[in-house]
Amino acid sequence: METKKISHDSICALAGVDRESQHKAVVAPIYTSSIYRMADFGVEGEHEYARVSHPNRSHLAEALSEMEGGCGKGIITASGMAALNLILQLVQPGDWVVSGHDAYGGTQRFLDALAPRGLFRLHCCDINSPDPAVAERAMALQPRLVLLETPSNPLLGVCDVRAWIEAVAKTRDAQGRRPVVAVDNTMLSPVNFRPLSLGVDLVWHSTTKYINGHTDLIGGAIICREPDLHDELDWWVKTMGLGAAAFDAWLTTRGLHTLPLRIRREQESAGQVAEFLAGHPKVDQVFYPGLESHVGHELAVRQFAGFGGMLSFELRGRGGQKTGADTTAEELKTFIYAQKAASFAVSLGGVSSLISHPSTMTHIDMSEEARAAAGIRYGLLRFSVGLEEPERLICGLEQGFAAL
Ligand SMILES: *Cc1c(COP(=O)(O)O)cnc(C)c1O
Repeated sequence: METKKISHDSICALAGVDRESQHKAVVAPIYTSSIYRMADFGVEGEHEYARVSHPNRSHLAEALSEMEGGCGKGIITASGMAALNLILQLVQPGDWVVSGHDAYGGTQRFLDALAPRGLFRLHCCDINSPDPAVAERAMALQPRLVLLETPSNPLLGVCDVRAWIEAVAKTRDAQGRRPVVAVDNTMLSPVNFRPLSLGVDLVWHSTTKYINGHTDLIGGAIICREPDLHDELDWWVKTMGLGAAAFDAWLTTRGLHTLPLRIRREQESAGQVAEFLAGHPKVDQVFYPGLESHVGHELAVRQFAGFGGMLSFELRGRGGQKTGADTTAEELKTFIYAQKAASFAVSLGGVSSLISHPSTMTHIDMSEEARAAAGIRYGLLRFSVGLEEPERLICGLEQGFAAL
C-alpha cells in the first residue's frame, strides 16, 4: 500500500525543525506576534496578520500535508469542528451534502442544526454498506459535498473509500461539477490511511486526538490535494477567524514528532487487548478492524496500513444472553469503577488509555431507536488504547470483569 512508502517517521521528527534563521534555533519558537512587518513598500512578507497565517501554523500544516500527500500547504484550525465549519462553506442553499448516519456525534449535530436553516440539503446513509445502491442513490442527488469517515465511531465500521470515489467520479451536477469528497481521518491518522492517494479531495482531522496525542489541547486541520481548493478554504479561514493560536499549533507540532511511534505501539496493544476481550466469557462482541471476525476486516486490510488503537466491546448482561442489551447500569458502573486499565472519560488518541460508555456519553443525543438501528447497545463500551504495557491493560480490565 502506498502509505508504507512514505517516511512518516522523518516527516514527523523534523516538523518545524531548523526553520528559524535569526538565532538558528533548532526547535521553532512560539510566534505570539499578531503582526508581521511588510517585506517592502507594497510587498507583503510571508506573514502579515496572525488571523490569516503565522509560522507555527505553517510548520504543522507543511508536515501534515507531506504526510497526507497534499498540495504542500494546509489549514490549521482551532478545533476539528472549526475545520468542518470551513468545509461547509463549500456548499450553498439547495446543494446536497451526503454524510454517514454514524458520523462523529459533533458532525451529526452540526449538519442537523444547519440543514433545517436551508443552508444545504442533507442526505444521511450507511456509507459502510457493501451494497453499491447506497452510493448510487446518494449520487442521484448530484451532491456538492460527500463527507466520509472511517472507521466509524463507536463500532469501527469500515467504509470503502475507493468505491465511493468511483461512484463520485461518474457524477456531475447541473454546472458540470464533480462532488467534493472529504474524509475525516481523525481515527487512523495519515500513518495508517492516506485518502488523498485514492482520489479524495480533502482530508480533515481533529488534531485533538492522535496527532497532538497528549490530551492537552483542542485543534483541527484540513489538507487538500489541489491548491485551488486549499486557497478557497484558506480564504474562509482568514475571513471567519477559525485558525489555531500559535501555542496550540506549536504544541501540536511537538505531539506530531512522536505520532508514528505512538500509533505503532497503540495498535499493537489494541490487537492484544481485542484478542483478550474476544476470548473473555463476560464479553459478548468485540469490534476491532484487526479481528478476522470484524465485518470490515478484509476491507481494512486492503485499505489501511494499520488497524488503529480504538476498539469497543459489549459486556455480557446478567442474563448471560447474547444480546449486549440486557446489561444494566449497575453492571456497567461496577465494571467501570473496578477496572484499572483506563480513565473513565470521552475522547481518544491520547498517551493514556480511556474508557467511555457511548449510550450515556458520546451518543446520548441519539434517540434510543436510532442507537438501536445503528447497533449501539447499552452494554457497549469504547476503549482508546494508550501507551501502557498491554499486559497491564489486560490485567486492569480483568479486575473489572472479576467484580461483575
Ligand atoms: C473529536 C472528533 C471530531 C471533532 O473534533 P474537535 O477537535 O473535538 O472539535 C471530529 N471527528 C472525529 C472523528 C472526532 O473524534
